[in-house]
Amino acid sequence: MTVTRFAPSPTGYLHIGNLRTALFNFLIARKAGGSFILRLDDTDPERSKPEYADAIREDLQWLGLEWDREERQSQRLDRYAAAAERMRAEGRLYECFETPDELELKRRTQLAAGRPPVYDRAALKLSEAEKDALRAERAGHWRFRLEQERITWQDGILGPQSIDAASVSDPVLIRGDGQVLYTLASVVDDLEMGITDVVRGADHVTNTATQIQIMRALGGTPPRFAHHSLLTGAKGEGLSKRLGTLALRDLRARGIAPMALTSLMARLGSSRPVELAGSLDELAAGFDPGQFGAAPTKFDEGELVPLTRQHLQSLPFEAVRGQILALGVPEAQAERFWRVTRANIDTLEDLADWWRLCREGAEPEIAEEDAEFIAEALELLPEPPYDATSWGAWTAAVKERTGRKGRALFMPLRKALTGQGHGPEMAELMPLLQRIRAREG
Ligand code: GLU
Repeated sequence: MTVTRFAPSPTGYLHIGNLRTALFNFLIARKAGGSFILRLDDTDPERSKPEYADAIREDLQWLGLEWDREERQSQRLDRYAAAAERMRAEGRLYECFETPDELELKRRTQLAAGRPPVYDRAALKLSEAEKDALRAERAGHWRFRLEQERITWQDGILGPQSIDAASVSDPVLIRGDGQVLYTLASVVDDLEMGITDVVRGADHVTNTATQIQIMRALGGTPPRFAHHSLLTGAKGEGLSKRLGTLALRDLRARGIAPMALTSLMARLGSSRPVELAGSLDELAAGFDPGQFGAAPTKFDEGELVPLTRQHLQSLPFEAVRGQILALGVPEAQAERFWRVTRANIDTLEDLADWWRLCREGAEPEIAEEDAEFIAEALELLPEPPYDATSWGAWTAAVKERTGRKGRALFMPLRKALTGQGHGPEMAELMPLLQRIRAREG
């Protein structure tokens, strides 16, 4: 069975880049009828916060990315300790004592000599007596001893990969204070949870090479790996600084529809065109990581607005009823309000503006040459409330009185009532208008 996981660290809010990872893993599981695990990588007790874990769940639920099971690394520490013990017994995990400063010095010396800054394995040469002496001074940390060979895998997005283990430092798996680091926890989880497919960002490619060796050292079989490219801004600029403003909750607050986000992310950077999907199942049916390119993917949040608009226009009243009533639109008028406004909104946020216009009226827009015409027309306009016949009756009366017709008749009247030259059918809108500010001037 296909099993995937999304493994965020609960140290911040999910952003658009995380969504890509979550969505790909979700779609792979969904397409195969498999299982999708939400795994909270919370082994860092200082930076992991329960409120971020809650926010992650809330964001995934909002998007419809339901998970079959939740796992928390902080509750599996004994599993990691057991795996570490096995690797120690087999000589694959060794204790090191360098301080961060010492490591930095080594790194600089290597770079200055034109050598790659790979850990020199000095700790492997320590005698037991030397280690005891160092242990008396400071706590040791533990590195995995890589076999110096080429590590290869067939990447689901990047194609064949080959990394020379000699060019990579032996990864630290356990810190001096005993904290298990991501690499060990992730490998143990991926093996023990039967993960078959791992999709994550291209920034993890080197991790993958080392993780494959650790998995083998633990007697496991590595899953299939695919690394998606990282997102850049619309002009190709790095997004890392802006990701804070591209938190999923901010996009939600701006009225972006989840289906717009998932539709865009399921296609952006692939050989298939971006188009609005009706459901996650529809996205899953056609999803294939192999259709994505390795080049950085340009993300333009502006693309989310037309997709949201298109999505909203496709929604039946029942789907938005709750949100409309929450604005204060009376039950009896809610369905009409949706019918009238849905073609005139970009995001659900815009509904509030239309309701304000209905309730409080709009600042009229009256051209100087129309001032007299509008004054005459307003004399013929009765007080609200209006019904579906009001606009027809009023414009007929105005036409008869002033002789104006067509656009010259309708456009100034629309602008006087709504303050804008475009919008819903006036006949449909009239029954919702509770106040005409132009009449009050
Ligand atoms: N917690 C890791 C991250 O957010 C997970 C990476 C992975 O998918 O293995 O980068």
